Amino acid sequence: MDIHEHQAKAILAEFGVPVPKGFVAFSPEQAAHAFRQLGGNNCVVKAQIHSGGRGAAGGVKLCKTEAEVRSFAATLLGKTLVTKQTGAGGKLVERLWVEEATDIAQEIYLGFVLDRKSERIMIVASGHGGMEIEDLAENDPDSLVRMVIDPAAGLVDYQARELAFRLGLKGSQVAQFATTLRACYRAYRDLDAMMVEINPLAITGAGDLVALDAKMSFDTNALYRRPQVEALRDPGQEDPRESSAHDNGLAYVGLEGDIGCIINGAGLAMATMDMIKLAGGEPANFLDIGGGASPARVVTAFRTVLTDPNVSVILVNIFAGINRCDWIAKGVVQAYEEVGLSLPVVVRLSGTNVEEGREIIRTSGLPLISADTLAEAARAAVRARPTPVAAE
Ligand code: GDP
Ligand code: MN
Repeated sequence: MDIHEHQAKAILAEFGVPVPKGFVAFSPEQAAHAFRQLGGNNCVVKAQIHSGGRGAAGGVKLCKTEAEVRSFAATLLGKTLVTKQTGAGGKLVERLWVEEATDIAQEIYLGFVLDRKSERIMIVASGHGGMEIEDLAENDPDSLVRMVIDPAAGLVDYQARELAFRLGLKGSQVAQFATTLRACYRAYRDLDAMMVEINPLAITGAGDLVALDAKMSFDTNALYRRPQVEALRDPGQEDPRESSAHDNGLAYVGLEGDIGCIINGAGLAMATMDMIKLAGGEPANFLDIGGGASPARVVTAFRTVLTDPNVSVILVNIFAGINRCDWIAKGVVQAYEEVGLSLPVVVRLSGTNVEEGREIIRTSGLPLISADTLAEAARAAVRARPTPVAAE
């Protein structure tokens, strides 16, 4: 789960990272008020969306007057900002962050990520941070400094100092950098984060360190024990298909294709998506309906899949172990009635109570397409699409 820059800054500040003073604004009037509260000096107005790359997309501006703040806020609010990271759909700007401007002498990149290879939290840093960091990571990956943290020892002081020296920091900057590193590490660990990123961590004209941007994302599987983090969720920034699935407790990931998938088990869902591709189709989503899926849950899964307007056929693939095929079949029939389904539906059932399940499908009188194997089901779904995609 992602959060906004201003929320990440508030969290990191609590742990001890220096951040500029600022205010959230939901209207040009509030932005102007923030400008006055900051003393009427130069300020930076920043679009709050769950994406980086805002600077290059026109979502960040240094403003010198209240009128400038007001007019930039008016253009930005309600606008969909498309950045390198948002995809073509962009993200709607519903709030701004107005903060005091900083005089920047140098921009450092600082990231904390989970390194799967070493199974540890890893720090990634560069003395050449800022908006071109992605180019740097691509063209000169060796210039990035990497360091893994031993979970038993935690981040130790000599590591912080070594990192500071490798970035070329001097004098009191070394201690300031160590403080920021420790704060980020604690925030990462204590809040079950997946990523903490400060880019840029600026060195000011006076030689001090301050975090001008902050990004945090969290492990959704740990949210049950982090209610204060979950409270920061902004559904307006999420894929609407995924928000509705999340609210219904379904594991759903939106994709680009048109074959809606309702499957039990993450592994089977992955295999089914592969088979769809092999058959020449594109899945519209990943959806794991989970074990013990009651007919009502199947109906909810149908509703979730149908929130995606691109879906032109639905493929139900169930290997029932804990589940029961007759429940699933009842759910499919019920979904037809309750949702007023008009799309072709391919159903492949296997496992517990498969005969009862198939009987329900057979005698339903509904235009359901039955398939025996996974490969057959995938091919049937591809064939059932109303608008076949031309072969590439
Ligand atoms: P991003 O493009 O989404 O990562 O947004 P950032 O918050 O990183 O802002 C983009 C760029 O704006 C930064 O790399 C800085 O160069 C610049 N910027 C952000 N805040 C300030 C500030 O307070 N003063 C100045 N001079 N530049 C800033
Ligand atoms: Mn940034």
